[in-house]
Amino acid sequence: MVDDERLMKTVKKLAMLAARNPRLAFNKVRTTWRTEYLAKLDYKFRNGYASAPTSVALKLTNACNLRCKMCGQPREGHVPGDAKYAPASFFKERVSIARYKDILTELKKIRPNIYLWGGEPFIYPDLFELVRYGKSLNFTVQINTNGLYVRKYAEEIVACGLDDLIVSIDGPEEVHDDVRGLAGAFRLLKEGIVAIQAEKKSRGRKHPLLRVRGTISPYNFEHIYTLTDIAKELGADSLNFNWTWFTTRQTGEAYQKMMKELFDTDARSWIPYETEVILDPDKDRKYDGIKTELARFSNNSTDLPISMSPFIKPEQVETYYENIYETFGHETCYAVYSKSYILPNGDVTPCPDFPDYICGNINDDHFLDIWNGERYRQWRLELKRRRLFPSCYRCCDLFLSDVRFI
Ligand code: SF4
Ligand code: SF4
Repeated sequence: MVDDERLMKTVKKLAMLAARNPRLAFNKVRTTWRTEYLAKLDYKFRNGYASAPTSVALKLTNACNLRCKMCGQPREGHVPGDAKYAPASFFKERVSIARYKDILTELKKIRPNIYLWGGEPFIYPDLFELVRYGKSLNFTVQINTNGLYVRKYAEEIVACGLDDLIVSIDGPEEVHDDVRGLAGAFRLLKEGIVAIQAEKKSRGRKHPLLRVRGTISPYNFEHIYTLTDIAKELGADSLNFNWTWFTTRQTGEAYQKMMKELFDTDARSWIPYETEVILDPDKDRKYDGIKTELARFSNNSTDLPISMSPFIKPEQVETYYENIYETFGHETCYAVYSKSYILPNGDVTPCPDFPDYICGNINDDHFLDIWNGERYRQWRLELKRRRLFPSCYRCCDLFLSDVRFI
């Protein structure tokens, strides 16, 4: 009965999405098919080999113009041996535009979504040239940004043919600015979006679609539902909620030990993701706040497509934070069969937030040779053997297929 209800809700929301934007609905169905079904067939029957990826994510830079509270990426600093900091050279790493173009040319026969992220992707100097080239080859190109540069580049963002602009918003102005650690961040983002919408209107374009992403966290626990109104006011095409991704010391150390034993790698990327939530003396009040906000969505009848990943019910909020080993039915990671990540130094990794295992480098090899090369297959097979690595429990890609409309 519950599944029937959920199916009906999904069909209804997809129909609404198709009415607003057929391509977005088509993309959703295609991605679900690839991540939900084809990846599972590969996992079962192909001995570590994978079909062509659905998405290739280019991390254009490690540099960022913000220092958000919940960010797990290393910050610039000189603290030897502390994985929360990285030397200045790390933030200057960059794949040349010429090499990116080669990669896109290589990928055009399978045409995955091209997802551009960072750090802050607008810091990459040849961003628009890259988008234009991707569009000339008919890729779907998405940018995930904190929005601070959107006002400055509004005209080019629309002109370059970008498909999706994904902006992160944490709540109303004061909450967003607090989480992002910058007074004026919300205002700048809002002005940027207004400029984009005006530019689209004057050019008679629907693209880029504006996709708002909100992270549900103890930092914005009283303002989650408000994001619906903010997204609507900004003219968003969709709103997606993620949960905070994190590790605990126990899972982090277990992961580090496993990586040392299996691959002789000193894997320390988990350290900046170690959660502070479960140590917060005020956490119960915050969990209650999140539950109250989630419950408000049960009467949500807006035609704005709103989704959540993973789908956590109000009564599961404590479990999400307190019992990291509960994976809500997700027994393994299928994303390693459908998505891949190219880092700013050209390294290719299966894991976006824990890029300790490197399968090759695009400055030395063709991407598709790396995708089904020995190192990638070794990672997939080891994962199949263990079902989950200790780094997987609160990693976004574990829940890749679990994006449900609410
Ligand atoms: S904008 Fe993104 S990369 Fe930059 S600090 Fe915030 S969460 Fe981290
Ligand atoms: S869920 Fe695990 S294997 Fe999959 S991307 Fe995340 S850390 Fe890597």
